[in-house]
Amino acid sequence: MSISLSQYIHQLPLIDVHEHHLPETFLSKDVGLLDLFKQSYAGWTQARPYPLPGEIADESLMGPAEGETTWSDIAAYVEDCGSNQFVRSLIQGLDELYDLKGEGITKDNWQALDQSIRNNHSDPNWPHEVMRRAGVQRIITDPYSSPMQNAAETLGENYQSVLRINALAMGWHPDNRDHNGNCASEFAKELNLPLDSFDDFCHLIEVLVETLAVRNQIAVKNALAYDRDIQFDPPNEALARSAWKKVDADPEEQKAFGDFVVDRFCALAGEHDVPVQMHLGTAVIRFSHPMKTVGLIERHPNTRFLLMHLAYPWSADLMGMAFVYRNIWIDLTWSLLLSGSHFKRVLHEAIEVLPDESRIMLGGDNWHAEESFSTFKHARNLISEVLQEKVAAGYFQESDARRLAEKIFSKNAIAFFGLDE
Ligand SMILES: [Zn+2]
Repeated sequence: MSISLSQYIHQLPLIDVHEHHLPETFLSKDVGLLDLFKQSYAGWTQARPYPLPGEIADESLMGPAEGETTWSDIAAYVEDCGSNQFVRSLIQGLDELYDLKGEGITKDNWQALDQSIRNNHSDPNWPHEVMRRAGVQRIITDPYSSPMQNAAETLGENYQSVLRINALAMGWHPDNRDHNGNCASEFAKELNLPLDSFDDFCHLIEVLVETLAVRNQIAVKNALAYDRDIQFDPPNEALARSAWKKVDADPEEQKAFGDFVVDRFCALAGEHDVPVQMHLGTAVIRFSHPMKTVGLIERHPNTRFLLMHLAYPWSADLMGMAFVYRNIWIDLTWSLLLSGSHFKRVLHEAIEVLPDESRIMLGGDNWHAEESFSTFKHARNLISEVLQEKVAAGYFQESDARRLAEKIFSKNAIAFFGLDE
């Protein structure tokens, strides 16, 4: 052991289990400093970019920046929101990548930084180079703007993706769209399948799962906490059928339709041994408590669930669930960007409570490569601190900490998703 635990953790290769690398954003050649703030979680400091029930989505919130950037545009992040964790993480990552010498972003250096970012993004290889510098070997993305795409073709050969099922669960009427604007009938069209009846709809779900590998997709993703209540009750097929093609389906019919669809996907995922990722916490916060999903998890003991974001802010509840149900794995993604101190407390607890070392994985959850780089720099710092504290307290030996770190960074994801080493 010639290098320190921290150095060891900072050089570990990483399998990144969750990103929102979308070709139109991630590979854009027209990217400046303001785009990096606006099209990242730092952008969420300015406005919540997803609608709550009764609100209208504003698509411009995470769109590219418009017009000439001024210092006041940048100061809105680095000064007005400078204490926020999303902003701090991005500034610290940019400082390292663009050699700002620890000064962060100032009125004096922002224009030169903006120009360097623009120059770098004119090279199509730059985003991939940044991910390489972040130590990332493979990436599982959730390209929610176009869920049927083959990410290995659109983003690069080290990419795979997940199939987001929100549009299906919201698809009792063929014109319905989920909060991302996706529509189940467009999926049917892409697969050349009819969608005239409820039975056609059930067939579409089966074909979507059977053809995952054709599109280089390796999991199903349930992000319905952004669309509806995540209490997924046992399927009531008769009530779900009664919602079909109704413009004015009543709330019970809508819920029964979504519950039926989610249950069907979870059953098929179990049969095909495909993992199910599930967003928990925040989103539509009155509907997103992790305990709401225990019925679904209990009904599908042979389905492997990867539960995301430490269910912030209800991480202790999630730990209780992961102790009881052995078909639960934990994706640390996003929680460390919401709050580094919350993350550290919960990681300490997770190490103690989780029944074995296979359970934890890590992702970026970001749009631009610079944001992913920043996230993983922050993640390596925090995970090093927690493991060092565990060793210092005599909880386990440094060799145990190194073995666990290697599992969190890559080995668990390789085993969980069945990736080739
Ligand atoms: Zn995400």
